[in-house]
Amino acid sequence: MRVLVVEDEAALRDNLKERLADAGFTVDVARDGKEGLFAALEYPLDVAIIDLGLPNVPGLEVIRRLRAARKSYPILILTARDNWQDKVEGLQAGADDYVAKPFQFEEVLARLQALLRRAGGWSTPQLTCGPVVLDTRAQAVHVNGAALELTTFEYRILEHLMLRAGDVISKTELTERLYDQDFERDSNVIEVLVGRLRRKLDPQDKLRPIETLRGRGYRFALPRDTSS
Ligand code: CA
Repeated sequence: MRVLVVEDEAALRDNLKERLADAGFTVDVARDGKEGLFAALEYPLDVAIIDLGLPNVPGLEVIRRLRAARKSYPILILTARDNWQDKVEGLQAGADDYVAKPFQFEEVLARLQALLRRAGGWSTPQLTCGPVVLDTRAQAVHVNGAALELTTFEYRILEHLMLRAGDVISKTELTERLYDQDFERDSNVIEVLVGRLRRKLDPQDKLRPIETLRGRGYRFALPRDTSS
């Protein structure tokens, strides 16, 4: 999952970047509202964290312009603790949730994960499709109750596909969500990773969890269990 952090306080920005990367996100950062607006319009994001108090372009204005440009990914705002007006204005401008400063990183992470789940149409942190169960909190995957050993990139691909189970995801989208801007992109890498993921999920070649749609991309094909 690819996240943009727009925050002018350097220490806070660096800390969020490091901890989000540790949590498995691909992280872009911007230091003010102008940079943030550019990045938020140009980069293929899954979610954005936007501080409301920003130099150059205020956070509220960044959010209004993104929504006016029909950018629909979830936005989490950072607000001052005792300013309820900020929270209300932020939500009215098009943000989806807020965290008040100072915050614990775990709260930011939990809210981001909840926003991403809901954007994918899931209501619980555990994604179940047939015998495949992916826990977004533990970053763990089980098939028929047995734990799978996945590399970071394999996990990220599977999480992206399962969050949007049933949708076709292009190779370009997967590549852009997995790597930073400066990483050399090669769609063959995605093919290799998906191949390995298939063998781990389905060693007997019976389940066929990931479909390839020629020229269009991949689709997680096992039906969602939405009863849990
Ligand atoms: Ca600020």
